[in-house]
Amino acid sequence: MPTIAIIFVIEMKSQLKITNTLSRKKEVFEPLNPPFVGLYVCGPTVYSEPHLGNLRTFLAFDIVYRWLLYLGYNVRYVRNITDVGHIENSAGNVVDGIGERAKAENLEPMEIVQKYTNNFHWLTRTFNTLDPSIEPTATGHMVEQWEMIQRIIDNGYGYESNGSVYFDVNKYAESHDYGKLSGRKIDELIAGSRDLDGQDEKRNPLDFAIWKAVGPSFPQRWKSPWGWGVPGWNLECSVMSTKYLGTTFDIHGGGMDLKFPHHECEIAQSVAADKAEPVKYWMHSNMLTVNGTKMSKSLGNAFLPAELIAGDHELLDKGYSPMVVRFFMLQTHYSSTIDFSNEALQAAEKGFERLMNAKKVLNGLNYVAGNVNADEDQSIIDTLSAVEDYMNDDFNTAQALAQMFELCSKINSFKDGHLDLGSLKAETFELLKTKFNTIIADVFGLNEEVEGGNDAMDGLMNLLFEIRNESREKKDWATSDKIRDQLNALNIKVKDEKDGSTSWSL
Ligand SMILES: [Zn+2]
Repeated sequence: MPTIAIIFVIEMKSQLKITNTLSRKKEVFEPLNPPFVGLYVCGPTVYSEPHLGNLRTFLAFDIVYRWLLYLGYNVRYVRNITDVGHIENSAGNVVDGIGERAKAENLEPMEIVQKYTNNFHWLTRTFNTLDPSIEPTATGHMVEQWEMIQRIIDNGYGYESNGSVYFDVNKYAESHDYGKLSGRKIDELIAGSRDLDGQDEKRNPLDFAIWKAVGPSFPQRWKSPWGWGVPGWNLECSVMSTKYLGTTFDIHGGGMDLKFPHHECEIAQSVAADKAEPVKYWMHSNMLTVNGTKMSKSLGNAFLPAELIAGDHELLDKGYSPMVVRFFMLQTHYSSTIDFSNEALQAAEKGFERLMNAKKVLNGLNYVAGNVNADEDQSIIDTLSAVEDYMNDDFNTAQALAQMFELCSKINSFKDGHLDLGSLKAETFELLKTKFNTIIADVFGLNEEVEGGNDAMDGLMNLLFEIRNESREKKDWATSDKIRDQLNALNIKVKDEKDGSTSWSL
């Protein structure tokens, strides 16, 4: 892929623009150290199956990663695994999600971590997302977390209290804009927070734990310079992103629900510890709804990705394949809400089929030089450029897909003979083939849903068609019919096209 990509980047007229949620503006993407790009995405907490909203986030940033690779950048993609069950709830208490799950399932905490890490990897691979370059864990970076806590304390923005260490938000806000990412105002945050009671360890209600002392009832805990405890949940991303990508790096992504307080805290921690803005471009993907209603467990409308595939939920008419779900999500820009409904998923199923059929038709077309029609030729080149321009326009997959469907219509017209393939220059036809295939497979990450990989399957089918054609030439109808009937029995439909080629579909 990179070899092709470098040629593309030279030809491309538009520049990549990203909506930076920090500036709330669409900005031209200028990496800090080109051709290198650092991309960090908040990963899962591994004590339950990821829900569809999580899946959407990971698919959205998979597209970002793939597009950066397509543009020829050398990307280091870091996505963490939160394997410490420390979540500070709204009352400021630490909830040990992993420990509680371990008790409920009668397993070791690390068994829970392994089980749901495996589950997460199954999910990301089922939906064909590329693996990150580094997948660091919170438990594997305990020393680095203590070092960052110490730097925050040394710089006057952290304080110890009863074996816990808190980030001093008020102190930070005296000289920094706490709330600049999420658009919150510190005064309103203070007004909206509960009053501290006399027992509280915090100086101010907004302060958050960067180290939390816990007793022996926590199965997972570590002996730090401040005593036994667990790291604060916001800390690990600051530590691991800057360790692998530098104190300031290019892109940080995550779901919109992480903007506050998690990402706001990440900025504060980095600035307090290292006096550096950690991220140049912040990106946030939007949420999901079902039939127009927010997805939530309490409403009973939150199905898991595995249930969506199996059709195993009362709101689903049937199951939808991972590639159809992937296609479905591509139809909406990452910054907009996606609404799940059976109608929309069924429409996506048809759209996906149409796109993949066009790809197969294109790859089966035989180019014969004819009278080149300059307008027709240019319109193919322009539409291919438009796909790239839309992707460069803040990863607009929805509009890029619409352009791909323009190309689908052309491809089908070439097949049906409504348009003469010879009206294109040979190099335009080659460009169409290369880019159309690359965009679908490498950028959109869509593949044919055939086990064993589509290349092997295509090769096998072509071999069968060759044998079938040879037997027909020899008038060996028994063999040619047998191949066709046996394939039909396997639910593989064989179609003889007017141009003499043979196509197949499942
Ligand atoms: Zn994070």
